[in-house]
Amino acid sequence: MRTGIGTDVHRLVEGRPMWVAGLAWPEETAGPEGHSDGDVVLHAICDALLSAAGLGDLGTNFGTSAPQWASAASHDLLAETLLRVRAEGWTVANVAAQLIGNRPRMGARRTEAEAAIADRHGIVVSIAATTTDGLGLTGRGEGLAAIAAALLTR
Ligand SMILES: [Zn+2]
Repeated sequence: MRTGIGTDVHRLVEGRPMWVAGLAWPEETAGPEGHSDGDVVLHAICDALLSAAGLGDLGTNFGTSAPQWASAASHDLLAETLLRVRAEGWTVANVAAQLIGNRPRMGARRTEAEAAIADRHGIVVSIAATTTDGLGLTGRGEGLAAIAAALLTR
C-alpha cells in the first residue's frame, strides 16, 4: 500500500465559470483563473494519486513540457492520471479530498460530486469542505484551495 497527498490553489476571477469537484456551479459569479477549468479538487486528487504512485506531480506530468495538456479539462487530466497510475499496476483503494473556501457550498452537492467522479473514473472518493473563518486567501474569497489524500494498493 502507498499513500500520497496533493494540494492545489487557484485564484478566483469574476466572470469565470466555477468548476469544483467535477461539477459546474452556474449560480457562482466568479470562478478559478487558469488555462483549464481550474478545478482545485480534481487537481489535488490527481496530485495525490501521482504522489502515491511515485510518479511526480501535475507539473511534471502535465506542465510546460507537455503543452497539449495546458488547457485540458480536469476530468481529462484525472482520466489520464489514472491511466498512468494503473499502468504501474496500482489499484486505487480510496481518495479523500477537502475543499477549502467560502463558496461554492459543497454540502448540498457532496454526494452528487462523489457519484459523478466514481461513475466517470471508477474510484471511491469522499469529498468534504471547510472554511478558514474568514482568514487568508480563501477566507477573503480571493481563491479556492483543496487538499487530497490517496491510498493505492498493488
Ligand atoms: Zn490546479
